[in-house]
Amino acid sequence: MSGIRGKVIAITGASSGIGEAAAVHLAERGARLVLGARREDRLTAVVDRITAEGGTATGVLVDVTRRQDLRRLTDTAVERFGRLDVLVSNAGTMAVSPFDDLRQDDWDAMVATHITGFLNGIAAALPLFRRQRSGHFVTIGSTAAHTVRSPQGVYAATKTAVKVLTEGLRQESGPDLRVTLVSPGFTHTEGVGKGAGPAVAAALIEQRDAIAMPPSAVAAAIGFAIEQPDGVDVGEIVVRPTAQS
Ligand code: NDP
Repeated sequence: MSGIRGKVIAITGASSGIGEAAAVHLAERGARLVLGARREDRLTAVVDRITAEGGTATGVLVDVTRRQDLRRLTDTAVERFGRLDVLVSNAGTMAVSPFDDLRQDDWDAMVATHITGFLNGIAAALPLFRRQRSGHFVTIGSTAAHTVRSPQGVYAATKTAVKVLTEGLRQESGPDLRVTLVSPGFTHTEGVGKGAGPAVAAALIEQRDAIAMPPSAVAAAIGFAIEQPDGVDVGEIVVRPTAQS
């Protein structure tokens, strides 16, 4: 199987930003989508938009920190479409802050969303992919795993963990599965600065508005990895704005 048409693709964090752009990009190319996120109104709006444009999508309320929610996402793919070809682990939070602010809830949320959330996705999809003898994990990392910039220490650490886990998974995946890390740089989404303290948020939003690339650029990178033939595994794609140092 190659290309995107007909593939059953689950995406976490599909209610806005990169996840929403990936859903739209893949739906336009004939994928059948199972979309997960926590905000029901925003998720429904994405599903409705795709459906109105002739695509195929269904929404599932998912908090990636909960094991059972990831299982519900993959179960929905099998119940509705008979299989799952790709899991895009994209859900994330960029509530960055200096260590002195001691925003421990934000630290916990980044660890839970990026690390536990990714592991929950592996646990939900891997047995299914093994039974099918095919499947593709696509994980959204960050250039923060390549270059640490203050005050992004905790965020960068969790994205570094995602990078390491993805490589470990790739090494164990065997000849039937594919594992891809897509590492975006500054991307113009509502998530930039969201949940951060006012000063950090203002600085990030100013920088975003000056240099960020559109989320469609990341969506295209995700699509490129997915559309390769079964035996071709794209390991990592780093995509950043030219203006990002
Ligand atoms: P957004 O805030 O627009 O998107 C984040 C998505 O994740 C939302 O759909 C949100 O939905 C979802 N989400 C957050 N927490 C959870 C959770 N616990 N369970 C399920 N869904 C969750 O930001 P982006 O699109 O920018 O971020 C997407 C990914 O891209 C993240 O992993 C981020 O770290 C990464 N990234 C972003 C960059 C950027 O510059 N924008 C750069 C590099 C990487 P809801 O709240 O409805 O659950």
